[in-house]
Amino acid sequence: MSQYRRCSVLVCGAGPAGSSAALAVARAGAGVLVLERRRLVGVPVRCAEYIPAPLAGLVPGARESIVQKTTSMRAFLHGECIQNLAAPGCVIRRDLFDQALARAAQEAGARVLTGQSLLGLEEGPGGRHIAHVQAADGTQWDILADIVIGADGPKSTVCAKVLGGSWQMIPALQMTLPLAVPLDHTRVYFDEDLRAGYAWLFPKGKVANVGLGAVADAGRATLGRRLRAFVEKVCDEGLVTRDATPVCTGGWIPVQERPCVQGSVLLAGDAAGHTHPITGAGIAQAVQAGEMAGRWAAQAIGKGCMALVNNYAEEWQDQYGDLLAHARARRLAWEAHVGSLDRVIRSFWIGYREYYAA
Ligand SMILES: Cc1cc2nc3c(=O)[nH]c(=O)nc-3n(C[C@H](O)[C@H](O)[C@H](O)COP(=O)(O)OP(=O)(O)OC[C@H]3O[C@@H](n4cnc5c(N)ncnc54)[C@H](O)[C@@H]3O)c2cc1C
Repeated sequence: MSQYRRCSVLVCGAGPAGSSAALAVARAGAGVLVLERRRLVGVPVRCAEYIPAPLAGLVPGARESIVQKTTSMRAFLHGECIQNLAAPGCVIRRDLFDQALARAAQEAGARVLTGQSLLGLEEGPGGRHIAHVQAADGTQWDILADIVIGADGPKSTVCAKVLGGSWQMIPALQMTLPLAVPLDHTRVYFDEDLRAGYAWLFPKGKVANVGLGAVADAGRATLGRRLRAFVEKVCDEGLVTRDATPVCTGGWIPVQERPCVQGSVLLAGDAAGHTHPITGAGIAQAVQAGEMAGRWAAQAIGKGCMALVNNYAEEWQDQYGDLLAHARARRLAWEAHVGSLDRVIRSFWIGYREYYAA
């Protein structure tokens, strides 16, 4: 048994959502414990590491994680540049970004325990929650919490426990390769072969994150084969150079929002499907949802009124409900669409006015 037998707010996961939640709870003066499965926060990185520029000013320590800034996003269809959109952004070291946020939460008073996996949750006495935890050395222990915030990523254990069901996610794969020429912009590539998805090339100093995410279609080339073909293409274009042992990563991107409050269990970030269903970007929403969830959890603890956590769902819906619902509808239409992207790309990509039409 560990010394951590009780806490007011238990946060599962020390990614952007979990650390933002813990920071908000701690700043409000409530007790908060964070469980993180990884031994080192943020490692390994599973991300293309692009954030919109304003986010760097909002997240403690984020500026130090910036590797390079970008000014615009170029979109390519069938190899032709179809748009150059002003989009000030930053390509970051995601490990440093996550670590800085976790450190900020700790400095505010949160306890962050790494190498600790949440195995399951069950109802405890007085409407509380018993969390079953396993340390990296195999030791198991339990903790009793008033409120649980599930910020444990796309395949969230907390979400599975309180919502069950299967929520749509798409697979993504990426290689980091040496950049052959300096680039001041990000690039996204569309092709019918990447249904309801796209490939990207994001410059990061001397390297570039080159990847893709799309609906996995039975009978089509696997995502790995498509990534290798895309890498050949951008190598041939002289943008990146081949590397015999590139850093490879991948993961799941939620493209369907999930209800974010169930009693006194809150979900934030990828655990709640807060990722943008078209772009797959989720860092900014994770930070904001985490902050909101943490703030309302602390209020509920402070005022002894658990119903206050429902304000998190309301505030989230007010700020993001329409945006994510619209993107979800566009995704479903894109997935169903079998015609030529030449005709319809403007309805499905966020860079075009037509995308925002009702
Ligand atoms: C290949 C790829 C590229 C991407 N590129 C971008 C991009 O460029 N820009 C962008 O904005 N978004 C990007 N995303 C999405 C972005 O990474 C996520 O939206 C973001 O990480 C969500 O943050 P989070 O805190 O909700 O979840 P996560 O970052 O996934 O953090 C969850 C944390 O919970 C921990 N955890 C999981 N289960 C348990 C458990 N049972 N017990 C304890 N701890 C647990 C994990 O170890 C992890 O540290 C990308 C995603 C992928 C897969």
